[in-house]
Amino acid sequence: MGFLEKSSLYDIRSSFRDSIRRVIKRGFLVLVYCSGYLGVLPQGQTEALVSREILGGLSTGKSIVLEGTLKQRERLRRWIQQINLVPIGEETLSAIDSSNHQVLVRHSVDRLIVAGATLAPLSFNLTNGVGVDVEILFDCRIPDSGSHIVEGTDGRWIEFTAVENLFHELSHARHKATGNWRSFDSEGQAIEDENIFRQQMASMKGIAPVALRGSTEGEQIWFPDSIDLAMANQ
Ligand SMILES: [Zn+2]
Repeated sequence: MGFLEKSSLYDIRSSFRDSIRRVIKRGFLVLVYCSGYLGVLPQGQTEALVSREILGGLSTGKSIVLEGTLKQRERLRRWIQQINLVPIGEETLSAIDSSNHQVLVRHSVDRLIVAGATLAPLSFNLTNGVGVDVEILFDCRIPDSGSHIVEGTDGRWIEFTAVENLFHELSHARHKATGNWRSFDSEGQAIEDENIFRQQMASMKGIAPVALRGSTEGEQIWFPDSIDLAMANQ
């Protein structure tokens, strides 16, 4: 589907979506906060099925660790392999790999609204070139595309795919792990990288020009169904 068709489709759906989104989000947030507060594993996920693996294929192969069930780790691995094919994606993964810090990518349903979040302890090492260990929370249930949209430079919604979403978080992780995090404009820093990623991926596919992200605004447009919920145990 082309960008223009997609945008107009979003426009048609937007009024209906706006009316139900707030209600759904509110309910979802309550559920998320309740499960977090009670300390229970989300969606019936059993602890025994969750394990960690070191992501192979990088220069040292020890810096990126994936945590989740077998299926969740498979998806993360596939997305990261796609990211690694794009020049700035490869550069980002290599920078993490040679940072001497670990980036843990962990499946979490708590981050569905934005799909991902990157956490690191607040320290001078974030900005002085030393860097810190980083944890990315990412919802591995999201489909490859159609889960999120973000605001483009012309104000229209543009697609925010799973790969772009995970790359965005890896960009935060890179800057935190290498200690060149832009504390006053963390989102701007990741969005700049994200737009380079979009342009490089588009030119690799022979698609140009490509719509770029213009702001931090974004929306979740996908909700898990029973199949996605069942994936929590695989
Ligand atoms: Zn971000």
